[in-house]
Amino acid sequence: MKKRILVTGGAGFLGSHLSDRLLKEGNEVLCLDNFFTGSRQNIHHLLENKNFELIRHDITFPTYLEVDEIYNLACPASPIHYQFDPVQTTKTSVIGAINMLGLAKRLKIKILQASTSEVYGDPEVHPQPETYKGNVNTIGPRACYDEGKRCAETLFFDYHRQHNVDIKVMRIFNTYGPRMHPNDGRVVSNFIVQALKGEDITIYGDGTQTRSFCYVDDLIDGMYRLMNSRSGFTGPVNIGNPKEFTMLELAQLAIELTNSKSKLAFRSLPQDDPLQRKPVIEMAKSELQWEPRIALRDGLIKTIDYFSKVI
Ligand code: NAD
Ligand code: UDP
Ligand code: UDP
Repeated sequence: MKKRILVTGGAGFLGSHLSDRLLKEGNEVLCLDNFFTGSRQNIHHLLENKNFELIRHDITFPTYLEVDEIYNLACPASPIHYQFDPVQTTKTSVIGAINMLGLAKRLKIKILQASTSEVYGDPEVHPQPETYKGNVNTIGPRACYDEGKRCAETLFFDYHRQHNVDIKVMRIFNTYGPRMHPNDGRVVSNFIVQALKGEDITIYGDGTQTRSFCYVDDLIDGMYRLMNSRSGFTGPVNIGNPKEFTMLELAQLAIELTNSKSKLAFRSLPQDDPLQRKPVIEMAKSELQWEPRIALRDGLIKTIDYFSKVI
């Protein structure tokens, strides 16, 4: 059955891929975005599609629409962007969640929240299961994002318990792929762009910190499965690739796959930068029959292909 689906942050990296998927499944998409980090370029190919509608709006302000489902993705995701205006970042997560939950409550519809592995902060438990409560510095430079997302989770569960809103909460781990912003400062885009340009690869700290990188198509599949999971399943559920890499390994791979002459250049480690991160994905496997399929090497080749055309 064709649905009208609201995607907040729909002009961003993940939102644009999600819009593609939802349209492919035969739905109508209302893409709502204030273009802080998103771009018309990401959705340019959809603008002529009669099932796609673009609304320029900031979710910190109420919005009255008639839709069947909401995916709430609006929020800058890269540290340099979310730290640019930290108060606005918290407002987007918290006031934005209240507005979207208010909309879901009025319409009695399902709403999915794009939460994050950052709710675990700099984790003292490794790898991280959904039951781990996290280790976030409430007053550090990452807190606007981490605490905003934590509070949004709280709001989702309180609207669920208090107002019976049908919620799905997804904790997304580092995701990469085509349409990442070339200058948004995230490690995969930085390393690929630097390698392609033959510039120094900037390793923050000694490069032994780890992340687990999920290719965007795998991630979107997990998101879609979560929205359509059994009634009553709320999550929070980790969606990410459990294969863990150090930043040094990632840099070597970026250099090898681009055939680059770039050298490594070591820079200071940003404050509160998590030392390690790797999801436990048993819940996603059993509830969603989901696990990632695309290995880092293969996903990087597709991403390099994209960046070599746009930079
Ligand atoms: P992105 O920055 O590319 O996309 C975010 C989108 O939200 C942008 O289009 C931006 O313009 C829009 N936006 C920001 N503030 C807004 C506001 N107040 N009102 C309306 N629109 C607003 O980031 P992304 O990587 O696509 O991330 C999407 C979501 O997934 C975010 O909520 C992010 O926290 C979450 N997430 C992403 C990752 C990842 O690795 N990409 C990891 C964990 C969580
Ligand atoms: N809201 C919205 N669209 C709607 C319904 C609600 O943007 O269709 C916003 C509205 O700003 C409201 C918030 O969501 O303040 C929370 O709604 P809720 O019903 O929980 O609270 P109340 O309206 O009682 O403040
Ligand atoms: N990083 C790096 N060089 C860069 C950008 C990032 O070494 O040019 C490191 C960063 O310090 C962190 C990891 O890569 O340890 C992932 O950073 P990113 O900003 O992509 O994601 P997050 O820290 O939010 O997981």
